[in-house]
Amino acid sequence: MKNKIVVLTLLAAVVAGCSTQKEPVKTTQAAAAVRKNVEVTIDGVAGFQDTPLQPDGKWHVHDPARPQPVIVTPGKTFSQEATPPSDAVVLFDGKDLSQWRDKKTGGDAQWTVADGIATSAKGDIISTNQFGDIQLHLEFKEPTPPKESGQGRGNSGIYFMGLYEIQILDCYNNKTYADGGTGGIYGQHPALANACRPPGEWSTYDCIFTAPRFAADGKLISPAYLTATLNGVVVQNHQAYRGATNWKSLGKYSAHPAELPLALQYHNNSVSFRNIWVRNVPLVNEP
Ligand code: MG
Repeated sequence: MKNKIVVLTLLAAVVAGCSTQKEPVKTTQAAAAVRKNVEVTIDGVAGFQDTPLQPDGKWHVHDPARPQPVIVTPGKTFSQEATPPSDAVVLFDGKDLSQWRDKKTGGDAQWTVADGIATSAKGDIISTNQFGDIQLHLEFKEPTPPKESGQGRGNSGIYFMGLYEIQILDCYNNKTYADGGTGGIYGQHPALANACRPPGEWSTYDCIFTAPRFAADGKLISPAYLTATLNGVVVQNHQAYRGATNWKSLGKYSAHPAELPLALQYHNNSVSFRNIWVRNVPLVNEP
């Protein structure tokens, strides 16, 4: 009898022990599910250090401690007002936004056009054409005088296939987390240099984008790649995307068609655009 009581007492203790060990785990998971990221500022850069770590384990997504791209003053001119090659698909030549649609509604693009310039407003726009591997030329101008700071200053972006962003931001005398600066693959790879011109001056992006490839079962065969110059300065060198662009979380791939519309972001700032054209890049023939 005495032995039975001891066994029962031990069992009760084990059960109690299990339940007290399990409780905090449940609470932690629940807390994590509702947790909001807390913005921190380090050396004048606002960002986050409670976001997931990048796959290389060095930096958090939007980490303010991640080194800033080195500032490189671009040459006076590079490809401003470059006339499109004969096989280019001209997406904006200063006249109208007939090559674009409002991303949300599929109706007319809500950006304004005046004096040959399109200005971001109201919502993202997507191209009526769909693209895979492309060469892109695009010119943008940040508003002057600049307003706000960090991600709030002249934010827009080019989304290849509507999914893979290269950031547009006024990073001239404006610090932000390194993976969110102009020329950066947002949330993943900072620009190799900060080659921003002052607001009010036209900047040029010349990009070569390779679409990701997926197997029939949806598995990723090869990632998306980007080579890009900003004002004639290389800011991405055949850099692989870690997935579709995300905010405060890691990039993630999901299988999608081989061609999708190009998108331009409206991020509550009026950014000017002109001279946008694209060339489809042919696949290299197998030997
Ligand atoms: Mg953006």
